[in-house]
Amino acid sequence: MNAAQWIEKADKYIMKTYGRYPLVPVRGEGCRLWDADGMEYLDFLAGVAVNNLGHCHPRVVAALQAQAAEMIHCSNYYHIPNQIALAELLCTHSFADKAFFCNSGAEANEAAIKLARKYSREKYGDPERYEIITALASFHGRTMATVSATGQEKVQKFFDPLLHGFSYVPFNDAEALAAAVSPRTCAVMFEPIQGEGGVVVPSVDYFRKVREICDRHGLLLIFDEVQVGMGRTGKLFAYEHFDVTPDIMTLAKALAGGAPIGAMLAKDDIAASFTPGTHGSTFGGNPLVTAAGIASIRALLEDGLLNRAEEMGEYLLGELERLQEKYAIITDVRGIGLMIGMELSVPAGDIVVKGLERGVLLNVAQDKVLRFVPPLVVTKQEVNEMIAVLDGILEEMK
Ligand SMILES: *Cc1c(COP(=O)(O)O)cnc(C)c1O
Repeated sequence: MNAAQWIEKADKYIMKTYGRYPLVPVRGEGCRLWDADGMEYLDFLAGVAVNNLGHCHPRVVAALQAQAAEMIHCSNYYHIPNQIALAELLCTHSFADKAFFCNSGAEANEAAIKLARKYSREKYGDPERYEIITALASFHGRTMATVSATGQEKVQKFFDPLLHGFSYVPFNDAEALAAAVSPRTCAVMFEPIQGEGGVVVPSVDYFRKVREICDRHGLLLIFDEVQVGMGRTGKLFAYEHFDVTPDIMTLAKALAGGAPIGAMLAKDDIAASFTPGTHGSTFGGNPLVTAAGIASIRALLEDGLLNRAEEMGEYLLGELERLQEKYAIITDVRGIGLMIGMELSVPAGDIVVKGLERGVLLNVAQDKVLRFVPPLVVTKQEVNEMIAVLDGILEEMK
């Protein structure tokens, strides 16, 4: 079937939860995609920061193929070697001591919310200690608890009553956080860099102050690294840029090279609150996805992709700044590593449509911010190719 035929069928059978572009990708390699009509595209969205290793990374493909023939699924009633090995890799490369596996970012945050509530109530012997403070313009997922945690009305609209026990503060404002803490507060949950919020990078000392506030009041600091983790910022985890250590961290998106997975990591004393029967997931950390997770982390670390993300991030940022000098509608260019935003004075949706027509996949967050999250394996040549297309589009908009 060609792309138009697939789209016609999608109209008939798929719920319209997404505003989809008229593109039907069927094959990928590195930073390139091909659609059902055989058209080639340069991918600067990478499945929304999922394909950090590019499409079909050979190490991930090999791990999935080998594991699929060995064992695909097995119950969490039993011990799963790949899950244990992936937990070891994550813990030895982070602040954390223990991992819990699930299937998505939202589920990882659900697990963090449940753990924070149980731990805090038990530790302080106070059943009223359940509130979690999150940031305005944050994004934590689409399940009821994570919609409640997400500080954006457009995500919450139509679905109330929301889960009780969340309050919201402006991001990058330590005083607002200090003022919002109450005896009910048990934790704060932030993205180290807001992704859906428009690539918002906080000031260098913000999280140091957040950590101090948490320590002063006995609050858990939860970092949602679902989007910014796994090498995207040039470090394995984004918190490493801010000279702070969280108590709990959530991961998903790029963790298994495109296989659906989520993880929630914590220090030992906190993790101990999750006793048998308190939380679980049928598929969470199954042999197949954790094989892909192990292969992905090894590729990130052994193929020098953290340095590459930093280098290519600097290069891309520089090229975007060059465009900023040329076009007045570009008001800001910002980011760390390959997590980069370009803010415009006008809505950026048209640019994404024009990019698609010219074979480049771009993305917009918060209406006016183009978000660049290409695979970390992106080359200078590919950056140049994207910049040339973007330059052409901006020129036409003048
Ligand atoms: C994508 C994302 C989520 C939700 O992940 P899903 O896998 O879609 O449930 C949560 N937090 C952040 C920061 C995200 O970017």
